[in-house]
Amino acid sequence: MLFDRDGTLVEDVPYNADPGRVRPVPGARRALDRLRRAGVPVGVVTNQSGVARGLVSPDALEDVNRRVEELLGPFAVWAVCPHGEDDRCACRKPAPGLVLHAAAVLGVDARDCVVVGDIGRDVEAARAAGARGILVPTPVTLPEEVAAAPEVAADLAAAVDLALRPAPVFPDLPASPGAPAVPTSPAESTAPVSTAPASAASESTTPASPASIVPAATARADTEEPA
Ligand SMILES: [Mg+2]
Ligand SMILES: [Zn+2]
Repeated sequence: MLFDRDGTLVEDVPYNADPGRVRPVPGARRALDRLRRAGVPVGVVTNQSGVARGLVSPDALEDVNRRVEELLGPFAVWAVCPHGEDDRCACRKPAPGLVLHAAAVLGVDARDCVVVGDIGRDVEAARAAGARGILVPTPVTLPEEVAAAPEVAADLAAAVDLALRPAPVFPDLPASPGAPAVPTSPAESTAPVSTAPASAASESTTPASPASIVPAATARADTEEPA
C-alpha cells in the first residue's frame, strides 16, 4: 500500500526542508501500524519538485523523510520524484513511474498495489500504473477531484478499511428484482493489497527510474539533475 506524503501522511508544508516542521496527519501512525501488523508492506510515492526548483536540497529532503520515518515508522520503499513540472519525467505524478518503481522494489505487480493520496494526480498516477487509487480529501482537494475518484475515504483509517477489502468490481450496478446475485469469483474476492515481503534486491535493476531514497541507507539514487 503506497501513500502520498504531503497532505496525506503529514501536513502539507510546501517545499518543506525542515524536519522540525513535519507533523503527521492524525491517525496516520495507527493506520500504518495496522497494515504492518497485517503484513502489508507500506511505501511512499511523493512528488518533490522543490528539489528541481532548488528550494529543497537532496540532503534536506532526506532529513525530512527520515523525520517522517521517526514519527510514522519504517517504510518498505520511498519513491521520490525530484523533478519539476517541465522536466517531462516519467515519474512525477500523475505519471505512473513512482508507483511502478515502488511496486518493482517491493517485488509485486502494480495491479496489486493500492495508492492513497489527497489530490487527483495521486489517483491518476494509480490508474495509469494499473493500481487501485483511493482519495482521502483535505480542504484543498478540489470537488471535481473528489467526484472523479474511483474510491474516496474520509481519513486514513477508512482508506485502510477500504484497501483491506476487495476493490469494487461492479460499482453502481443495481440488482434488479428477481435477478440472480452477481457472481464473484474467488480470485476477485481476495484482498488486493500485496502481502509479499519487501525486498531491496530489485532496487538496482532500474537505474534510470525515479529516485529511491532510503533514509537509513548511505547510498543515494537521486543524483539525477534536473534539466
Ligand atoms: Mg499530497
Ligand atoms: Zn520525476
